[in-house]
Amino acid sequence: MNNRRVTKPIYVGNVKVGGDAQVTVQSMTKTDTRDVAATVRQIRELEEVGCDIIRSAVPDMEAAKAIPEIKKQINIPLVADIHFHHQIALECIKGGVDMLRLNPGNIRDEEKVKQVVEAAKERQIPIRIGVNFGSLPPVGGIGKTRGFSRHMDMVNKLPKAGEAAGEEYSIVDHMVATALWEIGVLEALDFDLIKISLKAFDVPTTVEAYQRIADMVPYPLHLGITEAGTVKSGSIRSAIGLGMLLYEGIGDTIRVSLSGDSTEEVIAGYEILKSLNLRQKGTTLVACPSCGRADVDVIKLSNTVDEMLKKIDKNVKVAVMGCEVNGPGEAKDADVGIAAGAGRAVIFRKGQKARVVSADDMLSALMEEVEAVAAAAGDS
Ligand code: SF4
Repeated sequence: MNNRRVTKPIYVGNVKVGGDAQVTVQSMTKTDTRDVAATVRQIRELEEVGCDIIRSAVPDMEAAKAIPEIKKQINIPLVADIHFHHQIALECIKGGVDMLRLNPGNIRDEEKVKQVVEAAKERQIPIRIGVNFGSLPPVGGIGKTRGFSRHMDMVNKLPKAGEAAGEEYSIVDHMVATALWEIGVLEALDFDLIKISLKAFDVPTTVEAYQRIADMVPYPLHLGITEAGTVKSGSIRSAIGLGMLLYEGIGDTIRVSLSGDSTEEVIAGYEILKSLNLRQKGTTLVACPSCGRADVDVIKLSNTVDEMLKKIDKNVKVAVMGCEVNGPGEAKDADVGIAAGAGRAVIFRKGQKARVVSADDMLSALMEEVEAVAAAAGDS
């Protein structure tokens, strides 16, 4: 797609976000950040599946003090997620973190915000302003309440996207106004290494909020649907919300929030990007859904192949088709394809019929071909 929104790039460690950089995939650790061994183990698992940037919650000083040791043992940039405490932010910056996720409005005291911003500027560490539906300031209280709770805040009474009558002030208006106020705080301190997110659970609200802010500021956008749900429903919800925005050229980095293993978030993130031809990292599996014509248990075969492909990080498109009707067409279009038939299967490689194997041998033969194509491919 060439309609990508032009943004002012930032660097999160050595990873470029925005500008002409490819859309990156992020996740968040689900361990206690104070437990260095567990956190590092999880980050390494995420590195294995291609996570570009990792974020960890830093709720207290002990967690902040764990940052240097975690940083030493990982290879991808680390973002510290901080609320309220400027001392924790300063400790994380000192500890070598690559980015902060922090809303200046939550720190409340101007002098303390200034200290954090100065320290970030000195190390050229960007700050992500994360506007979340769940922690919006009260209606009419942006910048005045300085992050106090939403008790009696009227936010939940605001109409969602599509529900507002005429010029009625909506949740989208409130999210965008909050983001602009937070941005203004940083800009007033002459700080522009900024990235923004505006997340809600409601997909149309999230999409509209991002569309609106995209036209108003030059900063890169971190896309996400907050509290999206379990692996299955959350992936679908995120794919729809993020997919709509990415298709319009909006979004520089994404996180799929799932109530599940963090590796699932990364895998879902790549599937979204691969579906839009925005990233090609790793394999792409084309699999037929099976039907009454299937000559083999194509569902079982596809799931086994899907599992086996996880260890291949090269850009290889693999097709698993259940019969000789539609199978050869799709199988030929892939780098490696298999079209099963009664008791046998045809394997295609780069569009050419490569071999015919018995049903018993089809899985091993398919994987041999995939590995050969992957070995011949350069780094993806
Ligand atoms: S490829 Fe064959 S088995 Fe698979 S869905 Fe199509 S017709 Fe059915």
